[in-house]
Amino acid sequence: MRITALAGGVGGARFLRGLLTHLGRVPELSGATVTVIGNTGDDINLFGLRVCPDLDTVLYTLGGGIHEGQGWGRDGETHAVQAELAAYGATPQWFGLGDKDFGTHIVRSQWLGQGLTLSEVTARLAARWGLPHRGVTLLPMSDSPVETHVVVDEGEGPRAVHFQEWWVRMRAAVPAQRFIAVGMDRAVAAPGVLDAIREADVVLLPPSNPVVSIGIILGVPGVRDALRGTTAPVVGVSPLIGGAPVRGHADACLTAIGVESTTRAVAGLYADFLDGWLVDDADAEFAASPGRLAVRARPLLMSDVDAAADIAGAALQLAGELRPTTPAV
Ligand code: GDP
Ligand code: CA
Repeated sequence: MRITALAGGVGGARFLRGLLTHLGRVPELSGATVTVIGNTGDDINLFGLRVCPDLDTVLYTLGGGIHEGQGWGRDGETHAVQAELAAYGATPQWFGLGDKDFGTHIVRSQWLGQGLTLSEVTARLAARWGLPHRGVTLLPMSDSPVETHVVVDEGEGPRAVHFQEWWVRMRAAVPAQRFIAVGMDRAVAAPGVLDAIREADVVLLPPSNPVVSIGIILGVPGVRDALRGTTAPVVGVSPLIGGAPVRGHADACLTAIGVESTTRAVAGLYADFLDGWLVDDADAEFAASPGRLAVRARPLLMSDVDAAADIAGAALQLAGELRPTTPAV
């Protein structure tokens, strides 16, 4: 079975780790492959280095190197480099970068500097984290730089800041007026991205941020059309439980684009290609309402790997119901 998933950072990575655990438990799924299309709208240049926070969160989580409590960054991390940068007064200091994490950004920047594409660099990084051995291919959504910027007004008129500055430094507390995906007009889907959607047996949308993770990937030319055109069932997992994000500020992002913070409204953002939608039991009334979309309610809190595996299993089961002819292997 060929599974393709669109993913942001922490929510996406935790779901994908659950998916791999589920695949490992079901003998008929042992030959399954997973292609992950990662959001690169969060990418940023810091201290001369290219940082790809969402791709790295997927790599570290699936590779067993993630800081579990934090959900991002490396485990057992130290911050000697950041302390040195601070001593020099180098900025920004609001973005936390640990020493091990710096290693990733240094080698990525070196390889990009040697002329490799982000896809090629990501494949090299993924090899170190053992992804190919687990049947996982991690593709950046695009090899061309796309950066999400946020228009805010702190009292001196509207100005655009990098998404990371809004999310990390401002903690999304300053209302976002709108998001701009800088570079999207010139962006091309990375090699393999559109085919992975068109040729999949199942397409999954993990509970990633619908605006600044999934929404940005959907903006890459061709991605939305591929989702509309694929014969594979497209099944998503709600990132909102009872109208609130489990972590982060997805509600602030939805407000900025004029969308209500409900799981129904999030599913509405995908209405042109979504076939199945998992909601939490707290939103069970959505599952009971009639409509074209197949909605199922179950617990959606990824409290540990087992819980995430069960959610992933439920997503695959719903996909199977929607297309019973899906080949098992
Ligand atoms: P980010 O790039 O690190 O912000 O991560 P993603 O975009 O992949 O995912 C963020 C979303 O994951 C947030 O909107 C959260 O509400 C959602 N999320 C995080 N943990 C859980 C969980 O346990 N269950 C569900 N259903 N959603 C979650
Ligand atoms: Ca992100």
